[in-house]
Amino acid sequence: MSKVGETTLVLDLSALEHNYNYLRSKIKPKTKFLGVVKAFAYGSDTVTIARELEQLGADYLAVAYVSEGMLLRNAGVKIPILVLHPLASNFEDLIVHRLEPSIYSRNILNQFLEVAKEKQQTDYPIHIKFNTGLNRLGFSEDDVDFIARETKHSGCIKIVSTFSHLAASEDANERDFSLLQINSFKNLSDALRKKIGYTPIRHMLNTSGIINYPNAQFEMVRSGIGLYGYGNQAEVDSQLKPVATLKTIISQIHEIKANQSVGYNRAFRSSNTIKSATLPIGHADGIGRQYGKGKGFVVINGEKAPIVGNVCMDMIMVDVTGIDCQEGDEVVVFGSDNSAENFASSANTISYEILTAISQRVKRVLIEA
Ligand SMILES: *Cc1c(COP(=O)(O)O)cnc(C)c1O
Repeated sequence: MSKVGETTLVLDLSALEHNYNYLRSKIKPKTKFLGVVKAFAYGSDTVTIARELEQLGADYLAVAYVSEGMLLRNAGVKIPILVLHPLASNFEDLIVHRLEPSIYSRNILNQFLEVAKEKQQTDYPIHIKFNTGLNRLGFSEDDVDFIARETKHSGCIKIVSTFSHLAASEDANERDFSLLQINSFKNLSDALRKKIGYTPIRHMLNTSGIINYPNAQFEMVRSGIGLYGYGNQAEVDSQLKPVATLKTIISQIHEIKANQSVGYNRAFRSSNTIKSATLPIGHADGIGRQYGKGKGFVVINGEKAPIVGNVCMDMIMVDVTGIDCQEGDEVVVFGSDNSAENFASSANTISYEILTAISQRVKRVLIEA
């Protein structure tokens, strides 16, 4: 990997292809694959990742919000895009950009019908979200009649899929609960199919669901984190490759003598002489203050250097005592050398959070497949 001269998120598209093929190998050839590219494609680069997934043969993409889908349409992405959490104020934009809404409540269904009618749509594709236990978004059993009635009497919308989301797909201790969710989803989808008289596709599994519940693939699966190289369990992580590697450089090295301090609020106090390196990356780049005071570490010339003192807005200081390094040397925060899962766990969080936290200030650089 080439050297960077500033803080850079290096995106490896061959890793994306590898992960896509791995996840595809876990599903039946006929099962459709939806790639989740919400939140800047898990903090990487929405358009780049979406285009690559389209080329690799993904059947669908998903984003959280309408604005994210518009970005993809404006970049020329053609495959269907499911918007997981559309809000009524964006329905016109959604229709103009041929984005497909997740319809998750009576209120949202009514409001979407109104806009679809006004815009004289016929068979506009929508996706019905069922709540099977996550209790976040979705219709319940009591709503099935309502959905069938409302969608039937107007020809302006068509249900292309029903779906639901597992609450604990990565947790073997919650296996019984996940199986209950899967069963309930199957029953709700069946009930709705009977009432509308046609057969929308069904999807339930996220990345850990694909790994742990191979019998619940239905007609499509939805994967996000796995595409970016993380699988929520060590055996899966070892089969995947991180797409994003966050790199930076050493700006300055200091010798800190005993009884001196480093950084704001003098949060680090030295008891003996150490060597510190200042790096041009801080909480404004996504490295939260929770990584400070010795919790998080970076990798310099293959060795671990813990963050000392408080994380500043634009900088962190790391302890490089005993590490052979110089100003200008490359630093890996996470990715190829130190997995994002590992980095995140140092501050009691998960890969999803650190990946999506990397701010737009950080330059993105691609390594083509
Ligand atoms: C984010 C999201 C996914 C992707 O989950 P991963 O664990 O990243 O694979 C799938 N489905 C829904 C509804 C989501 O919100």
